[in-house]
Amino acid sequence: MKQEKSKQLFNEAKRYIVGGVDSPVRSFGAVGGNPLFIESGSGSYITDSDGNSYIDYVCSWGPLILGHRDKDVVNAIRLVLEKRGTSFGAPTDLETELAKIISESEGAAEKIRFVNSGTEATMSAIRVARGVTGRDKIVKFNGCYHGHSDSLLVSAGSGAMTTGVPNSPGVPASLASDTIVLEYNDAEAVEECFKKYGDQIACVIVEPIAANMGLVMPKNGFLQAIRENTEKYGALFIDDEVLVGFRTCYGTAISRMNIAPDIICYGKVIGGGMPVAAYAGKSIYMNKVSPEGPIYQAGTLSGNPLGMAAGIATLKKLKKTNPYNRFEQMSKTLCKRLQESAASANIPIDAPHIGSIFAVFFSDKRIENFSDVKNSDKERFVRYFRFMLDRGIYLAPSPFEVSFLSTKHTDEQILRTIKIFNDFLDNEAAEKAPA
Ligand SMILES: *Cc1c(COP(=O)(O)O)cnc(C)c1O
Repeated sequence: MKQEKSKQLFNEAKRYIVGGVDSPVRSFGAVGGNPLFIESGSGSYITDSDGNSYIDYVCSWGPLILGHRDKDVVNAIRLVLEKRGTSFGAPTDLETELAKIISESEGAAEKIRFVNSGTEATMSAIRVARGVTGRDKIVKFNGCYHGHSDSLLVSAGSGAMTTGVPNSPGVPASLASDTIVLEYNDAEAVEECFKKYGDQIACVIVEPIAANMGLVMPKNGFLQAIRENTEKYGALFIDDEVLVGFRTCYGTAISRMNIAPDIICYGKVIGGGMPVAAYAGKSIYMNKVSPEGPIYQAGTLSGNPLGMAAGIATLKKLKKTNPYNRFEQMSKTLCKRLQESAASANIPIDAPHIGSIFAVFFSDKRIENFSDVKNSDKERFVRYFRFMLDRGIYLAPSPFEVSFLSTKHTDEQILRTIKIFNDFLDNEAAEKAPA
C-alpha cells in the first residue's frame, strides 16, 4: 500500500513535535515503519492521508465504542457547539446529567468529579486515598498502566516486594519509593505486602481486567484478596476502569465480579471520543475533595459541555442498544477462529477476549502476567502487524496493547480479518520452509 503522504507528514511533524507524535505509542516504535496519518474516520473504518482505508481495531485506543462519527454523538456535539458554546468555566446541567448516568450504573460511584484524562483521574484518586488515610505508600501491579503521573511511573525494584524505582527520568526516587509494585494475579503477594506495610498503605490501584499488557483476566481470588486486605488494614481500593469501563458491560467490569471498590477511575468510553475522564466513589471519601473538603483538585476545562454531550450521547446509546452480547459473540468468534487456525499451522498463540476487547499474543503459554507478555514472540508480532496493516487491517501497533471492536464492526469484517490472518499463517509457514 502506498503510504508516501503519511511518510511526508511524519517527517514534517518531527520537525516541530517531539517524535512527530503527541503520545509515544502512536509513533509505531514497537512495529517499525512510519505511523499512518489519518485523514478521517467513518464507522469502523479509517482513511489515511494517502487515501487507503482500513478496518479500525484501535478505535482511538478504546473511546470510540460507537465507531467514528456516530450520528447521535455528532448531533449532540453539534447542538452544544451551535447553541451553547465550548466552555464556560462555570457549571452546566450537562455535568449533572452525565454524573447521574454514571452513578446509576455503579453503586460505588456515589459522587463524581470530572477531569480531562485518565492520568488526571488516577492521580487525583491517589491523592484522595492519601488524604483520607494520612498514609503515603501505594500499591500497584507490574504491567498495569494508570497514566503517566509520577507515583505511577514506577517499576518493581529488584527482589520481591521492595519499594519501587522510577521508570522514567524525572520521577523523583523519593516519590517512587512510596510505590510498591507487585505481580498481577499474585494474591499471596498482596497478603504478604499488607502484613509487612499494612499500616503505611493508602491504597491499592488495579485494573480489574489488565488491558495494558495485552489482555489478562484476574484469577479467582486476586481482586478479592485486594478487597479483603484493604478493608482489613484501612486502605482504599482504587478500581481503574479507564479502559474497561463500559467496554465489557454497561458500567464497571468489577461490578460483575461482585466487588465494591472505594474509588473508581473512568475515562475513554465515558467521553465518547472527547477528552473526558472522572473519578468517583463513596461519598465519605469523595466529600473530602475541595470545595466540600480539604483535598485540592481542579481543572479549567473539566466537565466542559462538548465532552459532556459526547459522553451522555454515548452512554445513553449503549444503555438503549445494549451491544454487549453481540460484542462478546463477535470477539469470541474472532479469537476462537484465530486460535484454531494458529494451532493447525503450528504457530502457538494466546488470543484472549472479553466483550469488545481482544488481543493476540504469539506465545505457547497462557498469558497471566507481565513476564509472560514480555516472553511472547515480539518479532512475529511485528510481522503479523505489518502483514495485516498492508491488507487493510489496522491493529494496535504494539504487542502490549489490546484491540477494540465498535458497534459498527460487522460479521463480514470479522470474517475478512480471519481470512487475512490465515494468509499470514501461510506466509509464516512458507518463510520457515527450507528453500
Ligand atoms: C488509558 C489509561 C489510562 C490513562 O488515560 P489517559 O487519558 O491516556 O491519560 C489510565 N488507566 C488505564 C487503565 C488506561 O487504560
